[in-house]
Amino acid sequence: MQYYSLQNHQHRASFREAVIQGLAPDKGLYFPSEIPKLDKDFIERLDEYDPQYIARKVIQPFVGADIPVQYLTQIIRETLTFPFPLREVEENVYALELFHGPTLAFKDVGAKFMAGCLGYFRRSAEQPVTVLVATSGDTGGAVAHGFYDVPGVEVVILYPSGKVSELQEKQLTTLGRNIRALEIKGTFDDCQRMVKTAFLDSELQARRPLTSANSINVARWLPQMFYYFMAYRKIKQWKRETVISVPSGNFGNICSGMMAAAMGLPIQHFVAATNVNDTVPRFLVNGKYEPHQAVATLSNAMDVADPSNFVRILQLFSQNERALKATLSAYRFTDEETVAVMKKVYKESQYLMDPHGAVGYLGLKRYMDQHPGVTGIFLETAHPVKFANVMPKGLEEAIAVPERVQQMNGHGKESVLMNADYAAMKEWLMR
Ligand SMILES: *Cc1c(COP(=O)(O)O)cnc(C)c1O
Repeated sequence: MQYYSLQNHQHRASFREAVIQGLAPDKGLYFPSEIPKLDKDFIERLDEYDPQYIARKVIQPFVGADIPVQYLTQIIRETLTFPFPLREVEENVYALELFHGPTLAFKDVGAKFMAGCLGYFRRSAEQPVTVLVATSGDTGGAVAHGFYDVPGVEVVILYPSGKVSELQEKQLTTLGRNIRALEIKGTFDDCQRMVKTAFLDSELQARRPLTSANSINVARWLPQMFYYFMAYRKIKQWKRETVISVPSGNFGNICSGMMAAAMGLPIQHFVAATNVNDTVPRFLVNGKYEPHQAVATLSNAMDVADPSNFVRILQLFSQNERALKATLSAYRFTDEETVAVMKKVYKESQYLMDPHGAVGYLGLKRYMDQHPGVTGIFLETAHPVKFANVMPKGLEEAIAVPERVQQMNGHGKESVLMNADYAAMKEWLMR
């Protein structure tokens, strides 16, 4: 499979090059040169196959010969180590739980798969590569766990001191080995700026080659298709129209679902549910793409004003807005609506949602109000315990704390406290 840059369709790269580079040299996102179509028979019989086989069938065409099948199978085995249960919340409304992985959020899937690919491509490199990443919370933990102990790869994570939750900080700072955390006395934007400066610093790169584990990397984006197939595998006998609502920030997750549909998975409609950072819902109304300044909300992993993956969605529909609108609806919700629905659903159905899942639920219900008779699924992207500090009163006590979170309480934090100063970080990385 070849990938082209969305900035310049003439620029081509292999899967291997696209994974190692992340972004094309012209800063465009990579997009596959063709969308493979899956056999009808394969889709019809999804429930007869095991998840690892399905994942391999789905991803293999995108990887091509760059990773031998045997090794790809092993990467998939190491990625799919946890289930994706589909829970009935109300009649015809289901939660697809994506939070049963090591850091309790869906990003575990993409991070682990990408780590496997990069580890393979770097297996005989003389010098280790450093994955440098800034995090506002969830990404850092998923990357740390995904790349833990991968030979030839070192990970350095920058996070803003005092601005991530206690559990998120534990996930970044307690692993050790090849994972190091820099606790920056500043904001997420400071961390992001320091990382960007480092990528442009040729002196540093010569001493210590850097790469990113950003969500735009094709090896993080594409494996997110897996769980859409797993969900369909469970519901296919219902023979009803299926709608999936995805709480969206950077729009990578929903874009992978739409990619799965483009490959032949029978999902009739998608809903992008956002918080008040609503660039895409506004775009679908007036055709104008006008990002505002990002606003902080309870669903903080979706506080994105200019979602980087939206260009990929437009490309999937060949820039045809009309075709896009026939398949995608987008709605925005406030924190007040989010909290109210978390309480309501817990009271009526005893199902506890995290703020991101709650936004997804709201989006699904809005669509279903206008389109009765469909089966609706919303993605529950994070475990509620990750957001215990923002849970409304009365719900916090309802959180069932998973065993591995309790275990983590025994580990000590290890991080390097640093000013938001590029020179200080460079000196630390060069040492
Ligand atoms: C990252 C994240 C999202 C948003 O996913 P995108 O692919 O960026 O749209 C939603 N929920 C949670 C919990 C996340 O960590």
